[in-house]
Amino acid sequence: MGRREKRLARFRRKIGKRWGHAVQLEVRDDVLFLTGLVPEWLAKVALGHGAGKLGFRGVVNDIQVSGVSEPSMSLPLENDNSLEGKRYDVVIIGGGIIGCAVARELSRKNLKIGVLEKESDLAMQASGRNDGMIHPGFAPHPGTRKAHYNVRGNQMYDQWSQELGFSLKRPGSIVLFRSWFSIFLVPLIRLRCSLNGVAGKYKYLSPRAVRAMEPHVSAQQRGGFFLPSAGIVSPFDVTLALAENAVENGVDFHLETAVMAMEMSHQQIQGLQTNRGCIEAKVVVNAAGVWADVVAQMADDRFFSLHGRKGTDAILDKETGARQTRIMAMPPLVRRKSIQTKGGGIVPCVEGNLLLGPTAQEVPDREDYSTDAGEFSHLVRQLDLNSRLSASQIINYYSGVRAASWDEDFIIEPSQKVKNLVHAAAIQSPGLASAPAIGADVAAMAVQALERCGYGVEERENFQPYHHAQVPVKDLPEEERSALIAKDSTYGEILCRCEEVSRGEVRDALRSLVPALTVDGVKRRTRSGAGRCHGGFCLSRVMKVMAEEMGVPLTQIRKKDGQSQILVGETKGGVSPSGRAS
Ligand SMILES: Cc1cc2nc3c(=O)[nH]c(=O)nc-3n(C[C@H](O)[C@H](O)[C@H](O)COP(=O)(O)OP(=O)(O)OC[C@H]3O[C@@H](n4cnc5c(N)ncnc54)[C@H](O)[C@@H]3O)c2cc1C
Repeated sequence: MGRREKRLARFRRKIGKRWGHAVQLEVRDDVLFLTGLVPEWLAKVALGHGAGKLGFRGVVNDIQVSGVSEPSMSLPLENDNSLEGKRYDVVIIGGGIIGCAVARELSRKNLKIGVLEKESDLAMQASGRNDGMIHPGFAPHPGTRKAHYNVRGNQMYDQWSQELGFSLKRPGSIVLFRSWFSIFLVPLIRLRCSLNGVAGKYKYLSPRAVRAMEPHVSAQQRGGFFLPSAGIVSPFDVTLALAENAVENGVDFHLETAVMAMEMSHQQIQGLQTNRGCIEAKVVVNAAGVWADVVAQMADDRFFSLHGRKGTDAILDKETGARQTRIMAMPPLVRRKSIQTKGGGIVPCVEGNLLLGPTAQEVPDREDYSTDAGEFSHLVRQLDLNSRLSASQIINYYSGVRAASWDEDFIIEPSQKVKNLVHAAAIQSPGLASAPAIGADVAAMAVQALERCGYGVEERENFQPYHHAQVPVKDLPEEERSALIAKDSTYGEILCRCEEVSRGEVRDALRSLVPALTVDGVKRRTRSGAGRCHGGFCLSRVMKVMAEEMGVPLTQIRKKDGQSQILVGETKGGVSPSGRAS
């Protein structure tokens, strides 16, 4: 009996003892399937994680939990035939950072590429709901795909930032120690950094050295470990820049377009059934985030299953930005006893705010973006890391859901069963940091899949790697700003006072290469409504510009996707009888 078989036999015995016949195991094609019924969600999670450690190619955890439903994916309300019969060489399912990275990378080739995203904007799921940290690559276990892609991706960010024009800062991160004994961990931390290939001159810092770097650090710190390659970006800006550059190189983006089924023939995908008709694709890339296992199932290739791990973050007022320069990672003693989190901390954002978080919570609903008091109080405790911060400085909080597989590693591979399918699945943290490397490898796999299917692939002669990202008008040098306003006065008409966003910028967001369709879409592109008053001043003004630009009544302007209209009808004027902005 081999080692894995022995481990499996032990696992079987353990489950039999605890659950009797309530839980069953079966191994097929090197994949472990779990079925049965347990009384609690966390029991299902523990069983999945136990199975994930056995070393199978995949774990499919289909155990039911009494009284708990696992909601299916939300779908767009639109149904039309606008994409019926459309043909692409490559279709990418998912407009998160991974789908957009793959699209941009593939646009170097002379291919017809389409990206299908079910939400009303890009980066609406994990890619727009994270910490924006470009992890240095010290946390993942050596030898995992996470470790490999994290370290490679981290180093590729400089080139991405230069070409795509988004802001990247490398303040470095300090893993703070809370106990004198932690100094004995330093050789192990160094060893892991060296095994993973972490870049930069990482080093131990004495308590005095930590204080010299961060004067407001907690008095309880006992030194730390500094990782200079840690960076920060705005995750939405990166995703948008990738997508816009992809559009500049010929890629089509279809928002509010969900893949709901696949037409298969001879173990190849022939067509993708969407809410906008059936689309043909020679090769399909599965970059569907928390739904990647459901998409794999559509092609009858579900060799893994995913579950949601929710993380909550809190944003602090911009005035706190001056009180901390580096990322401060959570000291192990303050972490929760979960092995599945790096513990969170305090992260400076490129926009100037500080961010607290994230937490980690296993959840049955993969689109559960609620926030609750328990997670919030956990976040507030993280404020102890910096003596100049307090809960009253929190201006907002949000949550995102990570796509976790049971063995906790990324799944990046061509399908073993379906000739024209490539998976980029289970991309949980550090997926943002890893995105450039994942994008490059998955694009190469898609090209190989095309070639395997008998299609030739050529370079695009006029590939344009540079993207001119819109610089906020308020950040332009005085002279440039005045010249711009002299040319077009709408850039001098401020709609959002907190973030100083002009009417011209709102209009540009509505006319851009991947245009905003909702108020939140405008906010993500311009920051209008992201300041202290949360849109109290600018919302009505932004909506008016949207109604004019989109040629629709004000009552049709949506806050986000679905039926999220803000106005329901007229009270006493302001909206003309036709419903158009007056
Ligand atoms: C709270 C939190 C903090 C994090 N912090 C960091 C961090 O600091 N650094 C870091 O490196 N990583 C971080 N991560 C992880 C990172 O956000 C993810 O790894 C990354 O965003 C995954 O990108 P993705 O494109 O795979 O997934 P997503 O962004 O989820 O994109 C997948 C897209 O596919 C779409 N989709 C799904 N099914 C379909 C379908 N059938 N048809 C059409 N579209 C479909 C979805 O709508 C979604 O937009 C964090 C994650 C969370 C939740």
